[in-house]
Amino acid sequence: MSRTPPPPPSVVIVGGGLAGLATAATLVDRGLRITLLESRPRLGGRASSFNDPTTGELVDNCQHVSMVCCTNLADFCRRVGIDGLFRREPAITFLGPDGRTSELRAGIGPAPFHLSGSFLRAKYLNWRDKIRVGYGLARLALDEQAAESNEPFADWLIRNGQNVRTMVLFWGTVLVSALNERLDQMDVGLARQVFVDGFLMNREGFQMEVPSAPLGELYGLRLESWLRERGVDVRLTTGVRTIDGDDGASVRGVTLRNGETIPADFVVAAVPFDRIPGLLDPTLRPLVPGLDSLGQMESSPITGVHLWFDKPVCPFDHVVAPGRFVHWVFNHTALQGRGGDNGGQYLQIVISASYDLLWMNKEMIRDAVLADLAAMWPAAKAATLTHWRVVTEHGATFAARPGVDALRPSQRTPVDGLFLAGDWTDTGWPATMEGAVRSGYLASQGILEDLDRPARLLRPDLPPDRLASRLLSRRTALRFAPDFEECAVEPSEGPQT
Ligand SMILES: Cc1cc2nc3c(=O)[nH]c(=O)nc-3n(C[C@H](O)[C@H](O)[C@H](O)COP(=O)(O)OP(=O)(O)OC[C@H]3O[C@@H](n4cnc5c(N)ncnc54)[C@H](O)[C@@H]3O)c2cc1C
Repeated sequence: MSRTPPPPPSVVIVGGGLAGLATAATLVDRGLRITLLESRPRLGGRASSFNDPTTGELVDNCQHVSMVCCTNLADFCRRVGIDGLFRREPAITFLGPDGRTSELRAGIGPAPFHLSGSFLRAKYLNWRDKIRVGYGLARLALDEQAAESNEPFADWLIRNGQNVRTMVLFWGTVLVSALNERLDQMDVGLARQVFVDGFLMNREGFQMEVPSAPLGELYGLRLESWLRERGVDVRLTTGVRTIDGDDGASVRGVTLRNGETIPADFVVAAVPFDRIPGLLDPTLRPLVPGLDSLGQMESSPITGVHLWFDKPVCPFDHVVAPGRFVHWVFNHTALQGRGGDNGGQYLQIVISASYDLLWMNKEMIRDAVLADLAAMWPAAKAATLTHWRVVTEHGATFAARPGVDALRPSQRTPVDGLFLAGDWTDTGWPATMEGAVRSGYLASQGILEDLDRPARLLRPDLPPDRLASRLLSRRTALRFAPDFEECAVEPSEGPQT
């Protein structure tokens, strides 16, 4: 008598942001039944676009960029075949308050000194500023205890010789965008990580990867077809009401908002941190430690301003604006070939940690941005604004406040079959696409481990240059490097760059 083989293990992923997508993308083609449930009508979560009725185009909720040091995001993009849709910027352009430009570009010399030439030539800092910043950078890089500090980064900076000028023009310019937090509320360890791992360890780590297509195409439409083609049951507009447990400490499946239940051997909760407690059914809540601590995690806003002009305004592809109201300007006509019909230009402006804008209405924010652009480029005064959008994401990222890392739970929970994923889980990275992808990879690794098919999915950091690794501590990075002696490193699928 032939016996029916048992059904393949089933995985339900709740949330179609980058964490959920990375989980799904690393579990396909392994004989698992995968269901991805997303409450919105599109995938991509916070890294997505909306349909703008006026232009008829996909417009990003906000510009998203990554850095070359984001090795797992790069791996994810290769895996799902969208790696060709990014443009690497070898240099970052700064426009100083006096209108002079400077470029941050790797010069001669090994890391960590590869950016010294650009730094010494930077026109938005004077010589005194540079000596002060150089001292602060050296102190930060060599301060191995920084990650343990519970003081706000602004206090650390003042203790280490920095003044208002260097904080506004240098430290704030780099870190407020990278961590989406104000210096006076920022965690020292995360700030150190940005400089050490992003700028100092490897010659290329600081370079930007800028999408050449809207986010909604990259992480929405393309991901949806890629996953469906590989048998993933992608269900949009499908909100999950609860993740359900059985009477033991195991997960049973999920109940949708429409009452339907979906049984599962594994459930990955890849939703924002403030949704988790309400999503777990009462039998599971007491079993997952750290839920109360999640209540202490706060959110930080980002404002994106989209401006369509009838004439070119910004002469660069992108620009960082130290000491200004606007932080970054991205020229989407140059970067993505959009908004240039009839000689016009489409700009995306980013203002990170935009707490000070929360009292302003959209018209006020638009006018403040226009005034800033007019001060940067006279062409902005002559150009007519033909269309605009202001989007403030109040919960853009978890706030990178002192001690926040201690609140971040691991992807594996004590509940059998239940995993967490999301940029807010314990990845060692700030709230970024890289952090989200890492969390998804770690959740997938946990599932495969439970199925006795261990695989090493998490990609290592960029190799540090020899001199940099001798001079700088690798503690931050090594803390999160898991020991996978037993497992083979999986090659990434899809075209390799
Ligand atoms: C304005 C802005 C600018 C940013 N800029 C950058 C940048 O330049 N670089 C960078 O690296 N990062 C940036 N980020 C951060 C980045 O977008 C996030 O870190 C990342 O996208 C988080 O992915 P996630 O999967 O963890 O969470 P999310 O993207 O929030 O995904 C969670 C998903 O779960 C879904 N969901 C929630 N509840 C349920 C439910 N009950 N049932 C089903 N689905 C549910 C949500 O709809 C959502 O799609 C930015 C974020 C914002 C908002």
